Order: sequence, then C-alpha cells, then structure tokens
Amino acid sequence: MPAPSTDRSVILTFDDGPEHVDALESIVDTLDRERVSACFFLLGQGVDRHPDAARLLADHGHELANHGWSHARMPTLSEPEMFDELCRTQEAIHRATGVTPRRFRPPYGAGWINEKCPELIRSAARLDLRMAAWALDTYDWRDPNGIRLDRVTAFFQGSQPSACDDHLDLLMHVLHGTARDLSQLVALVRSRGFRFGGYDG
Ligand SMILES: [Zn+2]
Repeated sequence: MPAPSTDRSVILTFDDGPEHVDALESIVDTLDRERVSACFFLLGQGVDRHPDAARLLADHGHELANHGWSHARMPTLSEPEMFDELCRTQEAIHRATGVTPRRFRPPYGAGWINEKCPELIRSAARLDLRMAAWALDTYDWRDPNGIRLDRVTAFFQGSQPSACDDHLDLLMHVLHGTARDLSQLVALVRSRGFRFGGYDG
C-alpha cells in the first residue's frame, strides 16, 4: 500500500455560507488559530443579507467562491435562470467584498458530479467560473450534525485517496456541528502527513 502522498494538499471547503453566521465566525476563529486558509462556496442570497460575514472571510484570507443564489438544483432550471443564479451571486460577492469568485460548486453537485449539464457548464463559462466538485463528503450535513471523522479517517487510510487531481478537497458546510469538530479534523489530517492548501496552491 503506498504511503499517503504528502505533495498533495488537502483543501478545506465549506458550502452554504455565510449563514449560519455564528457558526461561520467560529470556523474562521479555528482556521486562524490553526493557520489554515479555506474555500467558502457562498450563497448569493446569504451574502446579500450578511455582507459583513462575507467580508470577514475575505479579510481573513479565505477564497470566496460561488454556490448559486438560492441553493436551487440547477438542472431543474432553464439556462437563463441558471445564469441568473450564478451572475447575481457573483455580483453580491463582489458588492460585499470587491472579490470576483473564480469557482462554482453546484448545490448537491447536481449538473456536474454525475450527469454533466451543458447549460450549466455554459453558464459558468460565460462568467469565467471553473466547476468544482469534492474528493470527500464529510457528511456533516447529516443528522446528527458534525463532521464524520470516521469517514475522514477511512478516506486517508484507504489504499490511496481516489481523487485524480493534485488536491483533495473535503466538503463541509457552515453548521454548528462542523464548527465544533473542525479542530479535530485539522489534527487528523495533519497526523496523516498532509498539508493544507488552496485550489491555486
Ligand atoms: Zn450546498
């Protein structure tokens, strides 16, 4: 069994923010303490309601990315509606932070992970957004909430994490259970010899 490759970085990613804002603030505190930068896939409507929370992320050096406006399942929408979801979110994030996101992760991975939706890919391309998926779903969205550390352990103990890319992105959400468990996750990843990075290095 090959040893885990230490030249591949682990990227912490958080979907559905900036709400819940108190969980977000706790996540940012933990990332500060651990000196780790993460990528946040934000919902446009949440950014519109909490521009300060989006700014907090930018101020702390995290990547801001697009997760659509309303968490719609994109392939159920018309192409103009899809484009509108993405475009309005780009605008809301830019208005709040001055940052133009360069990455889009569709809610539920719909239109990208299993079946590719050409209208969605076209809409993202028009906005210079690269599509993003994930290497491991931590299942933190399940009931009871919290990062499934057993899944993360199994992932890193597997013969080799299966992502073919040079990074391993872990999917989490802005939830209280995730905020609670984040330090443990960081320690676990470090104990396996992986470093943390961002999509661009
Ligand atoms: Zn989501």
